[in-house]
This record gives sequence, structure tokens and C-alpha cells, in this order.
Amino acid sequence: MRAVLLALTDELKRLKAAGVKTVSVSDESVAMLRRLVAARDTGNRIPEIGKRSPEASIRFPVSGIQNPLPSPPEVILPRGGKSVRWQALRQLVLDHPVCRAHVRPGKQVVFGVGSLDAKVMFVGEAPGAEEEQQGEPFVGPAGQLLTRMIKAMGLERGDVYIGNIMNWRPELPPRADGTQAGNREPTPEEMAFCLPFITAQIEVVDPTLLVALGATAARGLLGARSFKTLGEVRGRWHDYRGKPLRVTYHPSYLLRKEMDGKVAANRAKRTAWEDFLAVMERAGLPISEKQRGFFL
Ligand code: URA
Repeated sequence: MRAVLLALTDELKRLKAAGVKTVSVSDESVAMLRRLVAARDTGNRIPEIGKRSPEASIRFPVSGIQNPLPSPPEVILPRGGKSVRWQALRQLVLDHPVCRAHVRPGKQVVFGVGSLDAKVMFVGEAPGAEEEQQGEPFVGPAGQLLTRMIKAMGLERGDVYIGNIMNWRPELPPRADGTQAGNREPTPEEMAFCLPFITAQIEVVDPTLLVALGATAARGLLGARSFKTLGEVRGRWHDYRGKPLRVTYHPSYLLRKEMDGKVAANRAKRTAWEDFLAVMERAGLPISEKQRGFFL
């Protein structure tokens, strides 16, 4: 535990030295830090945090380290079928000089994947370490959980479409070896810049409905200041440019919940699963009794 706290302190010092002025921490992380401080003050044993996946690292929404972004691009696609328009859009994003300028050497801009005839389109936040390495959304631990949930719906990953609000991994100041540790939420400016790319993917794929994974994705689609907590927007249908939109927990949140024990993790998974059941119903997918009872 001491090593974890020292690493955290080092990281904060490094960010400060790199000119980062604001660091915000999730409510969950604040609660954990409070528990640690309380344990230290009372002389109790410091609780174990448990094994953390890279995506479960404390997230730092940071202002002031990105190059300023130009206005959001206008996306103009060629005439043609879905495949022609999708290929053109993909190339536009992968080659976009602004996207490329924000990707470290050896890493990739990340564009959506999946079926162009998908009924269900998942929208995540932004690539993490594994995604920028492989150039594909949701391939890290959170992605593996998402893939399992898609299978639980009775589908394969290739039956749905998966994209992100942002097309490059939000940058943090590099470590001495040039690599990036940790992730942060995209800024409103970054989300606004990339929004035309996900909107164009929605137009091309034309799914029956959209699923926003987590509060950041929901803010990207519904507006940066449209709600405060995920609870305000979960459990009902919204509209994004004429498409039904359901908001659910980000799989990284569900993974982090596992650190709170099996009961808490299962409760969160059941809540998310109820969103998935609503999605399946609206998309006209068959639902068995067994599926209805998952995580109960
Ligand atoms: N989290 C996201 O929101 N998107 C990814 O592609 C990976 C992790």
C-alpha cells in the first residue's frame, strides 16, 4: 500500500512539474483516499486496494496540457453504400492531421469497429493503452468485459458496432521513458472536436439504437453540462439525433466495483444488465428467462 501511495505522490509531483494545474479525482477515488487517511489517523490497518487493471487507475481530467484544438471538422462523405461511406470516413479519421498530432509514435488513432448492419451501437469514451496499441476500441480489460456482456445478450462482438467519443488516447505528460501511465477523461474541447466523427459513424451505420457507456460518453452525446450524475440519466430512454439512446455504466466502473466485493460488484452488474435487457427489448432481440435472471 505504501508503494501505491508513493507512486501516486510521484505521479502528482510529475504532473505539477509538467505544468498541470488542476487534477480532479473521481468520487470513488476520493472515498478510497478518505478511508486511507482515516485508517492512518486511527492507527488501523490500511485497507487493501486490491489488484488494479491499468484502466482502473485514478483518472485525471487535466486542463492545460493539450495543444489547442481547432474547430470541430466538417465531415463530407462520398455518395455510395454504407461500406463506401464507412471506409471513406475511417480513412478521414485515421489520416486526420489533428488526430495524428495527438498520438505518440508507434501508437494509433482508433476508429469504430463492427457490423455496418448493427442494430445496437455502443459508444465509449476514449481509447486506453491497449486500444491505442491495437488501433481498436474496447480491447483492454474493460473491452473484454464488454465483449462478455455482448455475448450474454446472445450476440457476437462482430454483430454490434463499437465506437468512442474520442479517437485518440487522451494524453498525459510522458514518463522519462516516453510512455504514458494512466488515463484521463477527455476534455469538453476534445470531445467537441471528435463529435462529428462519431456522429458520422452513427449516420452511416444507422443502428436501431445507441448505448452510451459511462457518464463521459453520455456527456459527449447529450451535452457536457446536461447532467451531474449518471443516476440522473440511467434507466430511461433519451434521443440522440432521432436515435433512441440508453445510458449505462462504463465496463471499467463494473471492473472497479469488483474491488468492493462480490455482492457490490454483482449489484452493479445487475443494474447494468437491466439496461442491457431494455436495449435487447427495444432492438427486438429474443430474451430467454435465463437471460432475464442474470446477476440476480
Ligand atoms: N474505454 C473506452 O471508453 N473506450 C475504449 O475503447 C476503451 C476503454
